[in-house]
Amino acid sequence: MEMTGESTIETKKILQEVSDERARQDKKWGEQNHPDGTGDIDQQEQADYARAECDLAAKGGRLTFAHILEEEFWEALAEADKGKLRTELLQVAAVSVAWIEKLDRDAKKESERGSKEG
Ligand SMILES: [Mg+2]
Repeated sequence: MEMTGESTIETKKILQEVSDERARQDKKWGEQNHPDGTGDIDQQEQADYARAECDLAAKGGRLTFAHILEEEFWEALAEADKGKLRTELLQVAAVSVAWIEKLDRDAKKESERGSKEG
């Protein structure tokens, strides 16, 4: 796939699903205003560990979406600054969407393989 830096149809479709899920959450739980609970030293250490693991996996040619999402997740939890927390949470969401896109590509390939064999 050519990467143009613009949202693809696939990304937009998944973002609509995210929006639908948000609506379901609001319906079920109402507006949520919990404390952030981020930025303590243990969370910062976890973020350092996750970054190192992600780096090692990338250098070793065994990088997975689990490594990447774990790194982004812990980077978010490590942030005490609200602006930076927001940036990190957006990255968690974006990596999640990228992972869903990959699952959808896998499913598409699988169904194309199935229809050729069937
Ligand atoms: Mg990040």
